[in-house]
Amino acid sequence: VFAEEEAQLLLGAAAGSAEELERLVVARVGGMPLEPLLGWAEFCGLRIVVEPGVFVPRRRTELLAECALEAVRSSVHATAGDAVAAVDLCCGTGAVGAVLQARGGGRVEVHAADLDAAAVANARRNIRPPENVHEGDLYDALPERLRGRVDVLAVNAPYVPTAAIATMPPEARDHEAAMALDGGDDGLDIQRRVVAGASGWLSPRGVLLIETSEEQSPLTAALLREAGLLPEIRRDDDRDATIVIGRTGTTQFL
Ligand code: GLN
Repeated sequence: VFAEEEAQLLLGAAAGSAEELERLVVARVGGMPLEPLLGWAEFCGLRIVVEPGVFVPRRRTELLAECALEAVRSSVHATAGDAVAAVDLCCGTGAVGAVLQARGGGRVEVHAADLDAAAVANARRNIRPPENVHEGDLYDALPERLRGRVDVLAVNAPYVPTAAIATMPPEARDHEAAMALDGGDDGLDIQRRVVAGASGWLSPRGVLLIETSEEQSPLTAALLREAGLLPEIRRDDDRDATIVIGRTGTTQFL
């Protein structure tokens, strides 16, 4: 967002109140990201509710949402009438799940999970029904009945190496939970746990999609291969977006 557009957005959010505008501008100048000040972010053409302190949906993550949507549609196509189950794991605001729900057609049952209570509360405003947003550590959060039934597992787990957090913009460093960014020494700690647990939750035609960095993508792909999934790296330079898609041996499409 350019400065002029940002000023327009803040003016709109203040809705004519000079006091409110002052409050918003002071917070923004103090480094608060734009989106929680407005209360929303645009993501894949949807307005996603964004609450303060929760990881702001990034433009780059639209690639994850688009490819997960493609997988949902393939899955709907491949099944005659059954519901397709999709999970947005490490959901933050639930932006990815919200896209799958809005665009996946009526047959997709979307669940989301996050360890952070603030993220769960936020995602419950973006995903319906709110009970489908679960609080807990990765798969521990999910209802047992989804085991072996997840057709699309979309994950934007924190993947920033601990030492690199200090180099992130202050909007992220100071105003987003460290829990949403910090991926441990090499940035892959949480991805490792996600990949190790995936096969127990994926359906026979299930697809795992993980956002990662371009640099880390060969390592993310190797994790998938070790877990017996066929990895494919997809990259979008315009959005500086990289994801790795993992298919089970039995998946014949996509
Ligand atoms: N560098 C990534 C970003 O800001 C961090 C995302 C993540 O850790 N999931 O988009």
